[in-house]
Amino acid sequence: MKITFFGAAQNVTGSKHLIQIQGYNLLLDCGMYQGKRSVSNQLNSELPFPAEQIDAVILSHAHIDHSGLLPVLAKGGFRGKIYCTPATAEITKYLLQDSASIQEHDCEYFNGHLRIGEDPISPIYTIEDVEKTFNQFETVQYFSASREWKKLNENIRFKLYDAGHILGSAITLLEIKENGVIKNLIFTGDIGRDELPILRSPEAIEESAATMIMECTYGARDHGSINEVMMAMEGIIKSAIKRRGKVIIPAFALGRTQELIYVLHKLTDKKSIPALPIYFDSPLAQKLTAVFSRFTEYFDDEFWRDFGFRRDPVFIFKNLRYVETLSESKDLNNRQGPLIIIASSGMAEGGRILHHLKNNISNADNTILITGFQAENTLGRKIQDGMSPVRIFGEGYDVKAKVVTLDAFSAHAGQSGLLERVNQTKGLQKLFLVHGELSQAEAFKNVVSESRPELSIEIPALGQSFEI
Ligand SMILES: [Zn+2]
Repeated sequence: MKITFFGAAQNVTGSKHLIQIQGYNLLLDCGMYQGKRSVSNQLNSELPFPAEQIDAVILSHAHIDHSGLLPVLAKGGFRGKIYCTPATAEITKYLLQDSASIQEHDCEYFNGHLRIGEDPISPIYTIEDVEKTFNQFETVQYFSASREWKKLNENIRFKLYDAGHILGSAITLLEIKENGVIKNLIFTGDIGRDELPILRSPEAIEESAATMIMECTYGARDHGSINEVMMAMEGIIKSAIKRRGKVIIPAFALGRTQELIYVLHKLTDKKSIPALPIYFDSPLAQKLTAVFSRFTEYFDDEFWRDFGFRRDPVFIFKNLRYVETLSESKDLNNRQGPLIIIASSGMAEGGRILHHLKNNISNADNTILITGFQAENTLGRKIQDGMSPVRIFGEGYDVKAKVVTLDAFSAHAGQSGLLERVNQTKGLQKLFLVHGELSQAEAFKNVVSESRPELSIEIPALGQSFEI
């Protein structure tokens, strides 16, 4: 069997790993590369292998850096199945549609502002292309629910474990029979954390496996605890109330938004904070929240204790308002604080959050609360780094609002969680570290090597292949 790493190799984006087993070509994830436009356009418009030769895809979870090039694969002639959990299938469809519509808008804007010598660009795929991939999805339940393996051919079968990273996320255990010998391989996808609200903890794998392809986004450090987040949120909101200010929270439509609502609902129920108005202003996040509500069987014990058994709908409470239209969204400017606005995009690169930042960032009574990772060069990162003024819709705004970062919400396991995963994997001989910046991967490799010197650990480069 041959494994080639075509993405998330020494970085955290474009997850794509090809496994070739006696003529069968299995792709693990088909993610989009996200980064500088010039580099990403090139990496995303052409796949580094013939699409028509791929027999099947196993999709670990819906995030675009794992799923975003499925339409390119289908456009290129891939006719096989895309296997994933039912929640992943639903969420991926929304995220791919959103990705296509962002590309269409971006191209329209870029082509309308062409400088001399620049050629017009076109989206790498359209909503039509996205919709064509939908009938290739085939859902597979977590093994804990189905107790059934999914067979790909006579020699290859797999099962899915809950990865606890985002709704529907899965760790894949592949069982491969090659020349009469059975070889197990684990692909972790992205691994979540025990203490995250709503989702269950990442499941332990029962089987032994000699090979593991593992993410290491936070291979070098651990996160703060979620309990600290609850207390910090309470403090931030109480201080905003004293100043009659607004708390503006840019949040990713998937995962972070639902976690914020969960925490705010819980704080309100416990009367830790008063029932101040909370506006939830993101049409995509609203659709995804509806998907969450349909998959409560994936939720953890804490959810059942806090809300589930009482049949209290977690994403609905009396001071939370879902903002529907753009005019309602703009009307929020006229409302007096204290109030909270949650809107996407998570890095403040587009979407309705921009209006709210523009209108509130220059008032010292307001708070901008950053709860997610902010990539370099994004507006969210500039605000987080204390830059002032910042440009929004082409105009400069002084940043006078208080800026607070709470990074303990991360949906990725920290170093200890990753190490625990390595140590609980029985029979492990070969570890491939993917989906981590080189500094994180190397730090983690050193930590693992200290406790497990017998393990062979690789940090594959882009395009590198290994025979196992
Ligand atoms: Zn992810």
